[in-house]
Amino acid sequence: MSLETYRGRCHCGAVRFEADIDLDAGTVRCNCSICARSRFWLAFVPADRFRLLAGEDTLSDYRFAAQRIRHRFCSVCGVKPFGMAADGSGIAVSVSCLDGLAPERLAALPVTYVDGAHDRWDAAPAVTSYL
Ligand SMILES: [Zn+2]
Repeated sequence: MSLETYRGRCHCGAVRFEADIDLDAGTVRCNCSICARSRFWLAFVPADRFRLLAGEDTLSDYRFAAQRIRHRFCSVCGVKPFGMAADGSGIAVSVSCLDGLAPERLAALPVTYVDGAHDRWDAAPAVTSYL
């Protein structure tokens, strides 16, 4: 495991965060209703490896269905830099919102595809290329 500290932000910069992430351990793309619509590309981190640096007052919260996840997005620019478990146990950081990653690095990150649309978190959907 090689944890690195990354900084990230929403588009307008009102929301800024820092997280210790091992990106080579894997990232996730999912076909569930919200991930597919927002093209969310995530890396899971435990809550104690995530620090919100700015923007708590600018963040809005969206929850649906079982209400287990707080989908947090900037109320100014609309970008979702992270989501979090409602019980506070973990964060799903948006890889797309991390600063300083070259396209070559992003392209080389390992991705696990999950079939969230059918509640199959242990299996890839039949088609992944659009995610
Ligand atoms: Zn913003």
